[in-house]
Amino acid sequence: MRACLLRATAAIETNPLEYADVAMPQPKGDEVLVRVRACGVCRTDLHVIEGELPPRKSPVVPGHQVVGLIEKQGENARRFAVGSRVGIAWLRQTDGTCEYCRSGAENLCDNPVFTGYSVDGGYAEYIVAPQDFVYAIPEGFHDEQAAPLLCAGIIGFRSLRLSGVKAGARLGFYGFGAAAHVAIQVARHWGVEVHASTRDARHQKLALELGAAWAGSTFDEPPKKLDAAIVFAPAGEIVPAALKALKKGGTLVLGGIHMSPIPSFDYQLLYQERVIRSVANNTRKDGEDFLRVAAEIPIRTHVQIFPLREANCALNALKNDAIPGAAVLRVGE
Ligand SMILES: [Zn+2]
Ligand SMILES: [Zn+2]
Repeated sequence: MRACLLRATAAIETNPLEYADVAMPQPKGDEVLVRVRACGVCRTDLHVIEGELPPRKSPVVPGHQVVGLIEKQGENARRFAVGSRVGIAWLRQTDGTCEYCRSGAENLCDNPVFTGYSVDGGYAEYIVAPQDFVYAIPEGFHDEQAAPLLCAGIIGFRSLRLSGVKAGARLGFYGFGAAAHVAIQVARHWGVEVHASTRDARHQKLALELGAAWAGSTFDEPPKKLDAAIVFAPAGEIVPAALKALKKGGTLVLGGIHMSPIPSFDYQLLYQERVIRSVANNTRKDGEDFLRVAAEIPIRTHVQIFPLREANCALNALKNDAIPGAAVLRVGE
């Protein structure tokens, strides 16, 4: 089969993904084999490719927002019928036995397996995954539109949950890429007012089109104090600026897997019971709850589609803020 293979970490400007022929995976035990139709491009893929996350497998096929059809199943896989449309996300497997898994926090598992990082991902024609970590994709979404729901969508949703916002709250977004453009639709559906701070004018425009009450540059202070804010951009220098925009008792959620160092800041920015917390992965319940809500609203993702062989091109565009919404690779005909 064809796949985009990363042999060694490198800057994306050097186009390190090789469009290559690789052996097709075979489903064993409780695994399903999925024929990939679309795979979303996530900033985490960029962190894997550029080595900001230490390599776990090499060579590796990136990609963890996979939508496709079940083609074949292992001998113990019966959850889905062959032909079902399913999604595969970042958290591919957990041990099920550590203290985190046992307490309902499988997103913090001590022995996790990640799609497109510790095992091969969805920048490929086929992928295998254990059936219990596969999601049914609701009808009503095209394959390409569903793909960004699987990480951008789910992580944005978990970030919203951890921000604690309710109807009537004022919420700030720092960075307005794939995750934020989905999260704003959920927040608006909940009756939350959204203020978007992002350096790119195209992203500010998209935020306003999607119902933001205000959009400005990253370091412009929003016109009103915020009940909570979510930082989606991987830039640590945003943290003090975002804290400054929060009300007393406000929560700042850091939504990324990687962030440049956070500069030191005055304790006064944190005092008055402001809270900073990160988001790590998601539970399967987050994913299932989100996909249900996404179909109810319904979420409309803005996608820019690239053929699989042009994954380097999609990632370069992502790095340059040139994607309004989400980049998605189309796989197969
Ligand atoms: Zn565990
Ligand atoms: Zn992701």
